[in-house]
Amino acid sequence: MKLLSVIVPCYNEEENVRDFYDELCKNTEFFREKQIEFELLYVDDGSKDKTVAEVKKLHGEDERVRLISFSRNFGKEAAIYAGLQKCRGDLAVLMDADLQDPPSLLPEMYGYIEQGYDSVATRRVTRKGEPVIRSFFARMFYRIMNKISRTEIVDGARDYRLMTRKVVDAILSMSEYNRFTKGIFGWVGYETKWLEYENVERRKGETKWSFWKLFMYSIEGIIAFSTVPLTIASVMGVLFCILAFIMIIVTIVRKLMFGDPTSGWPSLVCLIMMVSGVQLFCLGILGQYLSKTYMEVKKRPIYLVKEEID
Ligand code: UDP
Ligand code: MG
Repeated sequence: MKLLSVIVPCYNEEENVRDFYDELCKNTEFFREKQIEFELLYVDDGSKDKTVAEVKKLHGEDERVRLISFSRNFGKEAAIYAGLQKCRGDLAVLMDADLQDPPSLLPEMYGYIEQGYDSVATRRVTRKGEPVIRSFFARMFYRIMNKISRTEIVDGARDYRLMTRKVVDAILSMSEYNRFTKGIFGWVGYETKWLEYENVERRKGETKWSFWKLFMYSIEGIIAFSTVPLTIASVMGVLFCILAFIMIIVTIVRKLMFGDPTSGWPSLVCLIMMVSGVQLFCLGILGQYLSKTYMEVKKRPIYLVKEEID
C-alpha cells in the first residue's frame, strides 16, 4: 500500500471543505485499483469562518482527514510548507479547496509518476472567467520573470502538483522565509511532466487575491528569484556618469567658442529632477532586497500552529 497525502490550504473556505472531500472520494475506484491509501490534510490558514469546525466534523466521520490550524493568516505559501512538512505520504499532492484543481486529473497524474516522473505539474491554458486586466498583467509578469531569472517559471502554472517524497524533501530543504512556491518548484528541478487543462472557475466563495495582493506577490517573486533589478541600478548609474561627462565637455567647448556657459536654468531643473528620480528608484530597488534580507536573517518561523488533529 502506498500513502498519498492530499494537502489543501484553506482560508475561509467553510463552504468548500465538505465539497472537496466528496469530490475527492469520487475517485475511490482509482485509489483501490492502484492500492493507494490517502490522507487528507487540511491546512487552515487562520480562517475567520467555520472552516476549522467543518474539518473537525469531517474528521469525526473519517479518520483519514487531518487538520493543521495556524494561529493567524500566514499566507498560502506558508500553508503549503506546513502541509509538506507534516504529511506522511510517499506521494503528496497540493490542491486548492475551491475545486479549481479537479481531482479527476489524479489518475492521469499518477500514471506519469508510475512512468518514472518525479513530479507532475499542471498549468491552465485559458484564463476564462478572469478579469482581462488581471490576465494581461499576469502574462507580462511571466514574460519579464523568465527574461530576468534563471529559474524557469511556467506561465499559467498552478500549485496543483503531484510529487514523490524525493521532491517533497527537496522543497522542504529550502527553508527560506520569503516563499515564492512557483519559483521554488522550478528551482528544485527534477523530471517534471506538465499537464494542461482549461481553467475551472471557483466553486463557491470568493478569490482571496486582490489585484494589489497579486501585484505585491509578483514583486516578491522577482526579488526572490532574480538579482537583475540590482544590475539595472548599476547600469543606470554608469549611463548617467557617461551622460554627465559628455555634458561637461559640451559646456566647456561652448564656453570656449561662444563664451556663454550659464544660460539654461530650466534644463538644469529638469535634469536634477530626472536624476534624483532615477536615484530614488535605484535606492528603492536596493531597499526591496534589503527588506527581504532583513526578514530572512531574523529567521522567524514560517508559520505557528494553534491546533493539530491527527
Ligand atoms: N489560501 C490560503 N491562504 C491565503 C489565501 C488563500 O490558504 O492567504 C488558499 C485558499 O483557501 C485556496 C487556495 O489558497 O484553497 C487558492 O486561493 P484562491 O482560490 O483564493 O486563489 P485563486 O484560485 O483565485 O488564485
Ligand atoms: Mg481558486
